[in-house]
Amino acid sequence: MVGGQILFHGRDLLKLSREEMRRVRGRDIAMIFQDPLSALNPVLRIGYQVDEAMHAHDKVPRNQVAARSVHLLDTVRVPDASRRVRDYPHQFSGGMRQRAMIAMGLANRPELLIADEPTTALDVTVQAQILELLREMNRETGTSIILITHNLGVVAGLCSRVIVMYAGEIVEEGPIEQIFENPQHPYTWALLRSIPRIDFARHDRLRSIEGLPPDLIALPRGCKFHPRCPFRVERCLTDEPSLQTVKGGQRAACWVTMKRAYEEMGAADIIDTRPGAASGVHPPGFTLPPFGAADGGGPTGPSEVAAP
Ligand code: SF4
Repeated sequence: MVGGQILFHGRDLLKLSREEMRRVRGRDIAMIFQDPLSALNPVLRIGYQVDEAMHAHDKVPRNQVAARSVHLLDTVRVPDASRRVRDYPHQFSGGMRQRAMIAMGLANRPELLIADEPTTALDVTVQAQILELLREMNRETGTSIILITHNLGVVAGLCSRVIVMYAGEIVEEGPIEQIFENPQHPYTWALLRSIPRIDFARHDRLRSIEGLPPDLIALPRGCKFHPRCPFRVERCLTDEPSLQTVKGGQRAACWVTMKRAYEEMGAADIIDTRPGAASGVHPPGFTLPPFGAADGGGPTGPSEVAAP
């Protein structure tokens, strides 16, 4: 099922013709892909690929394209850019390829840059450089950035607003400080809780979220997170929650929310995070094995993961 709208400056991008959409792509909205090695063409020189984005849209005068490519590669800190524009992608390191992708994304000074895991597989030094570069770009050119990532550290360092998604839907959104300090959806809470902390005892087990993400073609009824949620109540098994405002600018799709989980279900001290553990609510016919059982104490009932 395909539905909804993608609004950009009030225009629904889903209603544009292929030609109209081609004019938006790479010009008004650019994208940095996750894996630069497969996103770059291996048989074309880096400089040619950066030039191509500008030739396609004529936003930059043609006689300035080559010089701008060198300038862009210089800006993203590719050393000796005037010489390396003639290199092929395999002659660049992983970090340099990612920076070349960013240069391509910036070529036409887009209003919106979508960066899909731009720092995955990069070492932390290069990762810090790339994030600094994106931050600078946002500050200096006003380009908005949508960052898609599973790395909450990167989110904390770069973003001002966070949208948390589960099973393809938004489950929580809000300003960065509120989401990190006071998450209201149990999935966000569990994600933040599973980050290893430097002040924890070294022998403590790493925390994880019980269960697996759902099969997207056989989604569970009710809340999509209920097969994994320690705080679920009866209603979660049948009714799907919608996003509701919980605090200025922060919205969560949850029948319980962490406020109630802290007040009534002991969320502050919870160790047993098996599905339904904090509320005692389980699907009909399901029995939760004893906590810490020999099998690891995880859920075993078939109704645990099957769509009711
Ligand atoms: S408490 Fe219920 S609605 Fe909220 S995340 Fe858990 S299962 Fe979903």
